[in-house]
Amino acid sequence: MKAFGPIPPGFEAIDGELVISGRKVSDIANEAGGTPLFVYARELLEKRMADLRAAMPEQLSIHYAVKANPFGPLLGTMAGLADGFDIASAGELEMALAAGMAADRISFAGPGKRDAELEAAITAGATLNLESPTEARRVLAIAERIGATPRLAIRVNPAFELRGSGMKMGGGAKPFGMDEALVAPLAREIIASGAEWRGLHIFAGSQSLDSAALIEAQANTLALAALLTDEIGAPLPHLNMGGGFGIPYFPKDEALDIASIGIALGERFADLPHALKDTHFAIELGRYLVGEAGVYLSRVVDRKESHGATFLVTDGGMHHVLAVSGNFGSVVRRNYPIAIATRFDAEAEEEVTVVGCLCTPLDRLGDEVMLPRAEVGDIVAIFATGAYGASASPSAFLGQGPAREILV
Ligand SMILES: *Cc1c(COP(=O)(O)O)cnc(C)c1O
Repeated sequence: MKAFGPIPPGFEAIDGELVISGRKVSDIANEAGGTPLFVYARELLEKRMADLRAAMPEQLSIHYAVKANPFGPLLGTMAGLADGFDIASAGELEMALAAGMAADRISFAGPGKRDAELEAAITAGATLNLESPTEARRVLAIAERIGATPRLAIRVNPAFELRGSGMKMGGGAKPFGMDEALVAPLAREIIASGAEWRGLHIFAGSQSLDSAALIEAQANTLALAALLTDEIGAPLPHLNMGGGFGIPYFPKDEALDIASIGIALGERFADLPHALKDTHFAIELGRYLVGEAGVYLSRVVDRKESHGATFLVTDGGMHHVLAVSGNFGSVVRRNYPIAIATRFDAEAEEEVTVVGCLCTPLDRLGDEVMLPRAEVGDIVAIFATGAYGASASPSAFLGQGPAREILV
């Protein structure tokens, strides 16, 4: 038997069945037209943001990283909850604008932005977080050609990194941002060109459950921003301090202690270096805001035995939840939180391996987990799948097609 990750708070059973936003999952699946289906709970999105705001200093803006989940109705909700969106492509720019986010609250980072994407962002009035001096030159040339004033920030590749983070995106040689030594000369060039100087973006890592490591990274970020601002010699309007707040996925993972992060940041804000006295601060979070509000539902289509093991075969799979199968940046496969949604309060009584419908041994959704006995027709729920699920999985694999998605 192998353990599985913790089921997030906010889910309960009515008549033995999992309910999301007060509704039974079988009713939600009927309304959506069937399984496989991602269900996102609006009330959990709202609660997460409210709790986070209560923990963080008031002057800190909270941005949503659209990459985590760009589903239209969810983005519409997030546009009303977040202070800004961070995007990484012209496709996400269109989605962000369609969701109702104002262009001047959108910032666009990401390596390899094409000229057409740069032009779309300049025209819309979004901030471009420049990833290299050559990208900066392309932006300035495009802005001059179309007669627009671009809003520009510089993404820094910090020399430090977020200790123990799931995906490292700072420290050492990286394709993201530019090395510290390149920043001040380029910033001065941008200011001299007449572009609108928006400030710095420093993102040090992702998926951390270690509040001490995040507090340390934020302190390093503020110190680096102050140093660079002194070097640039002009006020810093805005600092995007990155994010990195993680959520529990696996056995023994514990929820992040946001209260201690908020207190530490409040103390820093009360004692800012002179260079940052008039700076506006933001953090950018993806999975922390939406991950635990999402549940992936698939239905059992077969139940079979092989050499003493029981397999539940569902109509879902890794083509929708690549990370659950352990194939999205994980070194070892571990079990996400999983349940039989249609027997949510029943005792676990048998060890099963839950697989998807793809003809590959990689397609595992729950490996040797103890669950209530399930039959064909039962619904399996996999939790913590609101981020990097539908849009980060190869839905065309084996001709299966995308999952349904619904916000309730
Ligand atoms: C991916 C990404 C994020 C979001 O990361 P999460 O782990 O989902 O919070 C934020 N900022 C940047 C620059 C990113 O690349």
